[in-house]
Amino acid sequence: MTEIRDTVILGSGCAGLTAAIYTARAGLNPLLLEGHEPGGQLSMTTLVENFPGWPEGIQGPELIDNMKKQAARFGTTFQVAHLNAAELGAHPIRLQTSAGEIHTRTLIVASGASARWLGLPSEQALIGHGVSSCATCDGFFFRGKEIAVVGGGDSAMEEALFLTRFASKVTLLHRREAFRASKIMLDRVIAHPNIELRANTIVGEVLGVEEQEVKGLRLKDVKTGVEDELAISGLFLGIGHEPNAKMFAGQMDLDSDGYIKTMGNVLTTHHGEVVPGVFACGDVQDRRYRQAITAAGSGCMAALEAEKYLEEHGH
Ligand code: NAP
Repeated sequence: MTEIRDTVILGSGCAGLTAAIYTARAGLNPLLLEGHEPGGQLSMTTLVENFPGWPEGIQGPELIDNMKKQAARFGTTFQVAHLNAAELGAHPIRLQTSAGEIHTRTLIVASGASARWLGLPSEQALIGHGVSSCATCDGFFFRGKEIAVVGGGDSAMEEALFLTRFASKVTLLHRREAFRASKIMLDRVIAHPNIELRANTIVGEVLGVEEQEVKGLRLKDVKTGVEDELAISGLFLGIGHEPNAKMFAGQMDLDSDGYIKTMGNVLTTHHGEVVPGVFACGDVQDRRYRQAITAAGSGCMAALEAEKYLEEHGH
């Protein structure tokens, strides 16, 4: 007989770890499955200055490590496993993972959203050394510097506008002529004296790998084929996020971009009806705020709902 767990948490970012702290303290012996991006997006940032309680800021990986220790202290079990398939309608819920089949009465989905990257080796090598996917997190470090933002949607416009608070100049690079961004955001960008817009432009390479800090970009105009270099100290990607919820399609309501739709903050639904025992928290259900503190907050809510659900069902 496969053991039936009270709670399984999918994801080890700050939503999942907060859910683990709460469910562990409630005596539910949670099992937390860590996927291919352990620690979530915080583990890829450097200094976090806006998480309350750390007046001098804290390094993202250290913050995650602290949360993990806190969750472990109260009895969370951690397992590295990839979720291949789930039967959310079964009681108990069945999870097929790379570490075998798991049965659980409640499931907390905190699988996050992964920032899209360009995929260039030089870009990957410089993440955290001038390459970032989060203007709110890292913009502050570029005071008085020239930087570039890639993307043509609202995220890129928002990042470019936000970054003008710090950077002396922002160059916005977009691969096409037409922009997905809403007119109002695009108009603001065009009107801003410190933003230069370059359409039809792709990044071929991020310069500075040897020096371990971004020095510039090698760019290509896709219409003329002309290449040039742009000297900058920071590169921000604003090319969207991919919520990690594809494995639940058909069993849970997702929005048009694949984010989990929730009711009452963390209840999941299927055809508008609540899916019993399945809760979602953090970036996988949040396309709007995407902050460490909001993810942690919703992780707490999911844990409290799971606890309440188990209590109501006599466990
Ligand atoms: P998005 O609308 O999907 O735009 C992504 C942009 O990145 C597109 O311009 C796309 O170019 C570009 N891109 C994607 N992959 C690329 C690659 N490999 N290389 C270069 N460029 C690439 O994503 P988003 O901007 O994150 O917005 C997502 C949703 O959130 C939208 O509905 C948006 O309105 C909303 N949002 C709203 C606000 C706001 O209202 N304040 C702020 C942020 C987001 P192509 O156009 O060529 O495909």
